[in-house]
This record gives sequence, structure tokens and C-alpha cells, in this order.
Amino acid sequence: MINVTKTFLPDFDEYTTILKRAWDRGWITNNGELVRELEEKLKEFLGVSNLLFCNNGTIVLQMALKALNITGEVLTTPFSYVATTTAILWENCTPVFVDINRRNFGVDVEQMERLLTERTQAILATHVYGYPSDIEKIGLFAEKNNLKVIYDGAHAFGVKYNNKSLLSYGDVSTCSFHATKLFHTVEGGCVICQDEETYKKMFLYRQFGHSYDDYICMGINGKNSEFHAAMGLALLPKVGDLIRRRKALTELYDSLLSRVVERPDPGLSNLEYNFGYYPVLFPSEDKLLRCKANLEKKQIFTRRYFYPSLNELPYLKANSCPISEEISRRVLCLPLFPDLAEDVVREISADIIFSLS
Ligand SMILES: *Cc1c(COP(=O)(O)O)cnc(C)c1O
Repeated sequence: MINVTKTFLPDFDEYTTILKRAWDRGWITNNGELVRELEEKLKEFLGVSNLLFCNNGTIVLQMALKALNITGEVLTTPFSYVATTTAILWENCTPVFVDINRRNFGVDVEQMERLLTERTQAILATHVYGYPSDIEKIGLFAEKNNLKVIYDGAHAFGVKYNNKSLLSYGDVSTCSFHATKLFHTVEGGCVICQDEETYKKMFLYRQFGHSYDDYICMGINGKNSEFHAAMGLALLPKVGDLIRRRKALTELYDSLLSRVVERPDPGLSNLEYNFGYYPVLFPSEDKLLRCKANLEKKQIFTRRYFYPSLNELPYLKANSCPISEEISRRVLCLPLFPDLAEDVVREISADIIFSLS
């Protein structure tokens, strides 16, 4: 069976050798040595300073909204994982969906003006599939209208834009280190803040808002454990190799499929991409469903990332986003992970070409 992704694991001994340090100290959570070491290594790897390692990529979105005092409307993308929207709802804010553009499937800044109200306080955009959102335009729009910018960078680990980590943009950027992501800590995530004050707030939020016997603010449990940090420490040195392997597989898919399916095109020369996903656009939803079903007969499982468009979530009443709705119906992510065999890429591609003919 082939799934859309497969968790990359280090050698068991490599993992346990690192974990043993925590074991021997008898300290397995609460800002332990491995968590602190992973944080330092992540800062170095990403070239950022205010970074917190947390327990998932959803809680960090919620912490970011809270730390930036967002209580009203948030301009956000309908084309992302559901956590981007539910984080806004969970914080009792209102998502206002901005339709996406066809280049990088990120929010279309041109649409924002007409969605602004007095209650608009922030933009929460996703670098979907690791393609940078229109960062310059978003920054200018936010500045002009006094809005905070949060980037859901769950897919952005290892991406560089203008020679800087894509996670270093916005007032706050978040990332997910879930087992299905390119770099993972089983469960986990991080948040990166521009300013020290927001960072300090989130540091406190992560530990229930108190420091020893001083109860300073309302917090939450955003901590992660030594077991999770050990996985990160084992995998971080391998990220470069993992990306190179993903790149080779992506180029193979491209060479086989470019004539039959469309691909998003971030069209940026100043981009170092991470090859986190392989999304393809089918001519129609019918054709997508046919290809998907034919692959499933061979035990090959693709994923409709992202479907439905989040403005269509059944528990929401939201504005329509025709482009996102259309793209959601036509987009499919094909299997892509470092130890995917090239023969399987050929088989998947041949099957798609056959299904479309
Ligand atoms: C995976 C993902 C999340 C959630 O991350 P978790 O670590 O699973 O909580 C949020 N946003 C996007 C875009 C994601 O892909």
C-alpha cells in the first residue's frame, strides 16, 4: 500500500541514544534539556531568534491570535487545512475568507479591500504547499490598515524566500511538526515572533501563564516533551537530504505528467522550495475522482488537499470564494515522501495518463 505521505523515521538506535539523555536525568517534560537544545538548533537552522517549540501546529495559531490581542475579524484563506480556520473560531474571532489567486493558491490581496470592516484586526494566511503567500503585498496592505499578520507556515519548513526562512515573515509565523510533515517531532510545532514582547507572552502562555508561584496571565498547555524533542534532534540533520530526495521525485513526476495535468506555479526566482507536496490540478472533478478511484484499486492513496474549501465548512456561514471552491474540487496531492520508489512514481503517472485518456 502506498499512502500520500509516509512518516520518515530515524534509525531506532539513533533516536534512543538521544532519548537516553532525558531518561538518565529522569526529566521527560517541562522545558527539558532536549526541548531547549532543539529550540537552539531550530533557531540556528531557520536563522531566527524568537522561537518556541510547542506541542502542535494548531495551539500555536491560537496562542498567536491571543498574544496579538485579536478579538474581531480575521482575513484568512479558504484554501488550507481546517486548523487554520478552527483556530480563529476557537479564539472567538470571526474568519472572513479572502479568495485565492491561481499562482500560489494563497490569499488574493486585491480582494481584501472590499472585505475590510472596522472590526478587521488581522490577516491569517497560509503558505500552502510551502509556496510563499504574496508577502510584500500582504505586508503593505497590513501596514496601511493597521492589521497584524500571522502566517500559518505548517508547510513552510525548509523553504527560503529572499534567502531567509519563509518562517521569518509576518508578526508571527507558525509551523507544524506533525508526523505527516516534512520535518516532524511526532506531534509538535513552533511559533516564531518578530518582537520580543510577543515572544515573552507566548513563553508564558505555553506554561499555563505562570512562572513558579507567580500567576501572571491566562495560559494554556503548549509544552512539548523530551520524547518529541528527541525525534526532532534525530531528524533535523537529515532535512537537507530529505528535501533533495523530494526534489528528485518531483522532477520525475513533472517529466511524466506535465502534459496532462496543470500545476500551481509560484513563479518566484528568489525561492528555495522544500518539495513538501505534489499537488496537481485535474481538468474537472469527475476526472479527478476517476483517477483517484483507479489508483485506489492498486492500493495507492492520494489525498484531496485541500477539500472542501474552508468557507464551505458545514458549521460555518461564510462568504463564497469561487476560485478556492473550484480549485478545491480539482486539486489532488499525489504520493510524495523520501523513500517513495521511482518505479511507483512511474506507475502512478502512467495510471493517471491512462485514466485521463
Ligand atoms: C498540519 C497543519 C496544521 C496543524 O498542525 P498540527 O501540528 O497537526 O496541529 C495547521 N495548518 C496547516 C496548513 C496544516 O497543514
